[in-house]
Amino acid sequence: MSHQRTILIADFELPRGAVGIEQLMAMPRAGWEHLRAQINLRRRQDRTRSLAKCRLCEGGVFIRSQATRDSHVPLYAHFPEASKECPWYDGNNLRPDDARAAQYQGHQESALHRRLCAIIEEVTKADPRCSHSAIDTYLRPAIHQRGRWPDVYVEMGSLGRFALEIQLSKPFAPEIAARHLHYDREGVALVWIFNMLEHPMPQGFHDVVTMQRGNAFVFDEAAEAASLERGTLMLNCHLEDGKGGWLAPRLVTLHDLRTESGRCVFVEDRRSDLLEAWSRTERDRWWKALREARKQKPDWPFYHDAFANPWEALGHEVPGLAGWEAEFWAQRSDRARAHSAMLFAILCSVAHSADKGMPVLHITKFKGETAVLQMLNSKLMAADFRHCGRLIETFIDHSRLSPLLAVESLSKKIFEAVRSDEQIDEEHPLWRAMARLFPEALNGVVRAELSDLGRLPKWASAAE
Ligand SMILES: [Zn+2]
Repeated sequence: MSHQRTILIADFELPRGAVGIEQLMAMPRAGWEHLRAQINLRRRQDRTRSLAKCRLCEGGVFIRSQATRDSHVPLYAHFPEASKECPWYDGNNLRPDDARAAQYQGHQESALHRRLCAIIEEVTKADPRCSHSAIDTYLRPAIHQRGRWPDVYVEMGSLGRFALEIQLSKPFAPEIAARHLHYDREGVALVWIFNMLEHPMPQGFHDVVTMQRGNAFVFDEAAEAASLERGTLMLNCHLEDGKGGWLAPRLVTLHDLRTESGRCVFVEDRRSDLLEAWSRTERDRWWKALREARKQKPDWPFYHDAFANPWEALGHEVPGLAGWEAEFWAQRSDRARAHSAMLFAILCSVAHSADKGMPVLHITKFKGETAVLQMLNSKLMAADFRHCGRLIETFIDHSRLSPLLAVESLSKKIFEAVRSDEQIDEEHPLWRAMARLFPEALNGVVRAELSDLGRLPKWASAAE
């Protein structure tokens, strides 16, 4: 066997930007699955404009989920039309149609499948709210023409219209994206129903769970018995526990499903909350330290030992931070930790002011309506933070205070800073440290995911 070549860098559309293979592989499962789903959705909507491109040949790439012993690892792969001349060409991608044919042949006529469809329609119809139901006759243009497998369609009065996909074989990623887009356009809530949860779960099921924000719906024996008893469709709802497993399942009805979020149907959003919590963890530590330090040294809290633990914790998350600390000491005879605490206070001032809609400063003593502007100008003028001109500019640009960048005094200070001092960039440990503390503004991948989910916090959203 020859050594397998692989795509090392994919360029995503902004704001995500470049995501190297190492960064991809280091992401939590929910992170790369979200990217994978977004790529597939885009592919469905516009085949000519891939969300991610190969750095070398600029051909469209997708995220292939490679099964390992007990899990999956994400890898990039070219879409089939990519140039075979690309040095990273990986060859032998199954063409989606072949893969589909191979996968669904034999499953289509599955007797178990027919039986489940019939039972699910039966129990749903028993609900007095149900005004119409059908198996495998609801028209799905484009999808309908291809070899396909049955599903149940029901109209449930005020609850809305539902397409229930009973999925026994693993679904194929492009099909998942196609169906979500299709039903979303039709105003029909799409619910994927499994008859069991496999361990380890095939990637196709993970993709469905990603679309359903960490929810899996299972029609098993318990759900069937409960459905017959209650006279309406009951599903066993499994929620991700955030640690790679599941919470104990609970029985839910169509009434319990949240259908207002466009393409996704779920009982509880298990993904966005975790991402939000992750985004806040390190920042909360630093914020606590700043408040603690200020209590004891109101005028100059930044050298306080309260920052020792948060600094150490951040070092575990940001490679190169310790090396930079030594370098910083050698160059400036100053402590990198205190310097970071001051930068944290500057950025916190921007974020908190953006959130409150009025100046809230944690560094300098400026007062009045233009306090944020004056604070930024003074910090950029002094030598200490000139090397952060670009960082501060990016941060403001990704906040509700972005109109400040149009103010001449500030744009001049940034220009001067960039001109007079070497700038840290996205790869610099200090930038990465701030990106870990404020991922909503400085981590393109996280920022885009929160935005897709409609969960970007107010301070980091576009100005109105
Ligand atoms: Zn390529």
